[in-house]
Amino acid sequence: MQIIPEPRDMQRFCASLRCSAQTIGFVPTMGALHAGHLELCRRAKAENEHLVVSIFINPAQFAPHEDLARYPHPFERDCQSLRELGCDAVFAPTKEGMYGRADFRHGTWIDVTPFDEMWEGVTRPGHLRGVATVVAKLFNICAPTRAYFGEKDFQQLRVVESLVADLNFPLEIVPCPTVRESDGLAMSSRNAYLSAPERQSATVIFRAMNAGRELAQSGERDVTTIGQTIDAVLTSEPDFAAQYVAIVDAQTLAPLRELDGREARILVAGTLGKTRLIDNLAV
Ligand code: AMP
Repeated sequence: MQIIPEPRDMQRFCASLRCSAQTIGFVPTMGALHAGHLELCRRAKAENEHLVVSIFINPAQFAPHEDLARYPHPFERDCQSLRELGCDAVFAPTKEGMYGRADFRHGTWIDVTPFDEMWEGVTRPGHLRGVATVVAKLFNICAPTRAYFGEKDFQQLRVVESLVADLNFPLEIVPCPTVRESDGLAMSSRNAYLSAPERQSATVIFRAMNAGRELAQSGERDVTTIGQTIDAVLTSEPDFAAQYVAIVDAQTLAPLRELDGREARILVAGTLGKTRLIDNLAV
């Protein structure tokens, strides 16, 4: 497995594969790999001739008060997991390599509307711009045939799909289901921040979404009623501070008034102590 830090070297490596008509499955990550990431990698490996993974903690998607400085970075362990999986190349750039040094300011940014004006876009101003921009850069560097994204970050998935459609990136986005712990908590690199009691409390998110889904499955169509049920479970856990709870059209992410047969999704974001968690579930 090659570990390539320089964007130009990575671009050459991937271009040579694509020139000989070989397919590249690409999984962009910020590292601290868990079973959710590795599931994306396994699928990318199975569906393509080559697996390329990026590990880059993208400073552009963190606000100054967020957790960039403490984000976990177990690089050797990540590389070992990827080696065992048969990964061909890891792209691990520096932030200077991606965004230039002080004498060259990166000046091109991508806003994906209207997604940047809702949910994560409102709660984390600038976050989705940072995501869209780094993903576009990674696509230009790694030239994937297919790129694999987790439904765990549902709005991010919609942003990336829009980016690819709007800017005509010649690749396919493959959405992958959320991988969960046995008690329902969605796997996330940020779960490592949780204390033992917080880890217990964190199950409230899945329990709440599940209560909403069950109500919908029993025939309830009114979104306000379903939302009240979700809120009631969430507020039963006093340490969880919700930032938003929404039931939305799964394509547009616009809030729904009632379940009318369109594909719908419950979105939840909030904090437990200093840790921010997001999750979502199909209704
Ligand atoms: P991150 O390292 O958090 O930027 O995530 C990299 C990719 O892994 C993104 O496409 C995420 O949506 C995906 N991912 C993260 N957690 C999970 C999970 N629990 N299940 C499936 N995919 C995930």
